[in-house]
Amino acid sequence: MNIINKKIGIVGGGQLGKMMILEAKRLGFYVAVLDPSPDCPAHSICDKLIVADLNDPKGYMELSKHADVITYEWENISIRALEILEKEGLPIYHPLTTLKAIQNKHSQNEVLHKNGIPVPKFTKVKSIDEIKEAGKPENFGYPLMLKTTTGGYDGKGTALIRTENDVENAYKTLGSGTMELMVEEFVDFEKEISLVACRSISGDSVIYPIAENTHVKSILDTTIVPADIDMSTISKANDIGRKLMSAMEFIGTFCIEMFVTKNGDILVNEIAPRPHNSGHFTIEACFSNQFENHIRAILGLPLGDASLQTPCVMVNLLGQSDGKTALFGLEEAYKHPNVHIHLYGKSTSKTGRKMGHYTVVDNDINKAKTLATELKKIIFVGTNKENNNG
Ligand code: ADP
Repeated sequence: MNIINKKIGIVGGGQLGKMMILEAKRLGFYVAVLDPSPDCPAHSICDKLIVADLNDPKGYMELSKHADVITYEWENISIRALEILEKEGLPIYHPLTTLKAIQNKHSQNEVLHKNGIPVPKFTKVKSIDEIKEAGKPENFGYPLMLKTTTGGYDGKGTALIRTENDVENAYKTLGSGTMELMVEEFVDFEKEISLVACRSISGDSVIYPIAENTHVKSILDTTIVPADIDMSTISKANDIGRKLMSAMEFIGTFCIEMFVTKNGDILVNEIAPRPHNSGHFTIEACFSNQFENHIRAILGLPLGDASLQTPCVMVNLLGQSDGKTALFGLEEAYKHPNVHIHLYGKSTSKTGRKMGHYTVVDNDINKAKTLATELKKIIFVGTNKENNNG
């Protein structure tokens, strides 16, 4: 089949799906999307939107009729449902074996550990007593991180336990044992960094420059590239990226989030088997961005250059209030020619919801940082002018 006639099926039509489509459309590929919402960010630019719950087999059967290759923008999806597509003979990228290993944070840590990749100490827990046992000084001690092993994102599914007094509350917050739980030693990190990379069906691969990330309330707030870390940390992070690339048999773009400790060691926090929020800088700062390379990778096309063309700061635009989405400060922000604004097309703003992002590019990273910070007061998403908390 002529490659440009290939049809791409994407499970999930959120902002990451939308950004994949923008790149797929550059070459005119047909894209079908499966999403529970008729109004999802991808709805206005995909060729076919199948509206169904992501656990509903019927939606996947329908998707299989409109695609030659399947990918997903979100890891918390039903493997059983994806197996329906595999049975229909459709290739799925990243492969289901990769997704299976990553979907559960406990098994993910086990795979990392088995491959010699350092991770924070971790263990499964079932009860309040077991969490208290882990918090004893001879075990992990406090503070302690409690996490659900599945379904977590943007800090939902994690709870910080500062002292034994917080244990019951944290246990309750994460579902009182209805979800599988694990504890992790608390890492008193110096920095959080991430590595975005991409591997093609052909085995061809690229690694993007390391990004430095700041989270606010466990949600990514700012990404700065290049990260302010020394060469040995860069090379350790790249080694981890290269090692995992083949060990996990990724096909497409993926991201490894890491902690850099005060003495320069790296511990892997988690892996996302998809393009990542911390890789949005690649859209303006690299020749071929993480979404373009993802599309190329799953179609077996040669990958594009991932090197950094300009230093860059990315800031997430989170909803500042609840209601009909409104964007403020666009004209003011566009007075700066080096500012790029992305709005994902979500009709409803919710406090803390990822609504868009902006990037500032500048050969002088300090200038980019200053402007990115100033813009927090100017550009925001909410429902009225009064509620910018940036
Ligand atoms: P999610 O999957 O919801 O993004 P993460 O496991 O990445 O959850 O945790 C969210 C944030 O919480 C991380 O970016 C980091 O800032 C903090 N965090 C997670 N695990 C630890 C840990 N073991 N030690 C210290 N901070 C942590």
